[in-house]
Amino acid sequence: MIYLKTEEELEWMRLANHLVGKTQGELAKHIQPGVTTLQLDKIAEEFIRDNGAIPAFLGYNGFPNSLCTSVNEQVVHGIPSAKTVLQEGDIVSIDCGTILNGFVGDSAYTFCVGEIDTKVKRLLKITKEALYLGIQQAIEGRRVGDISFAVQTYCESNGYSVVRELVGHGIGREMHEDPEVPNYGRRGQGPLLRSGMCICIEPMINIGGRSVVFEQDGWTVRTKDRKCSAHFEHCIAIRPEGPQILSSFEFLDEVLGNNVI
Ligand code: MG
Ligand code: MG
Repeated sequence: MIYLKTEEELEWMRLANHLVGKTQGELAKHIQPGVTTLQLDKIAEEFIRDNGAIPAFLGYNGFPNSLCTSVNEQVVHGIPSAKTVLQEGDIVSIDCGTILNGFVGDSAYTFCVGEIDTKVKRLLKITKEALYLGIQQAIEGRRVGDISFAVQTYCESNGYSVVRELVGHGIGREMHEDPEVPNYGRRGQGPLLRSGMCICIEPMINIGGRSVVFEQDGWTVRTKDRKCSAHFEHCIAIRPEGPQILSSFEFLDEVLGNNVI
């Protein structure tokens, strides 16, 4: 069932997602060689709680932490660990969620740790651009497949592959609501986009093949060929005047300055 949000509900969605953006900005200050993904998790949890919200991922289907931290060949759902020390040249995809007054915010960004390989930097740039091309299609009267098609064709035409096993989603009082928003698909197909819908668009794009492996820890998803994967996610609302991005990379952009991908 797809829930259309009222103006009041949209305002709470905006606030929950705004806090995710601010948390990403806080994390950006700490992403450097030597930091562990568990340290980042603690920073995020404290920041979210200090701002009167609850980390949305903590305890979700038994997930043990507040962030998903996925390094290099890990696609999504990496578990923060004191043993995972970020190294110069790594990339780390950080997915963050909050619950504020019963509404969920959800956004992800792939960060560079120090200087990274130019080929990997291009993967990040194309994945982020694909996210915005998907958002441009999120218009009342179009269909989910229009978003999916835009993301897939852009990434594949640039030589990358699209993960099929995981998809974007509707969001609201629950983190995962209908509809599913795949990063592959056909124009004009899938559920109709209507004003008041909130969805997360989240391309997960691989530099190598599209196949993924689900690790024994029950959570981490990595590429089968162990080549790098990138993940960028925004939460958006469909409005009569067009797509409105509820989450925000502004805060992390401010911290990263000239190093923004
Ligand atoms: Mg997410
Ligand atoms: Mg999501």
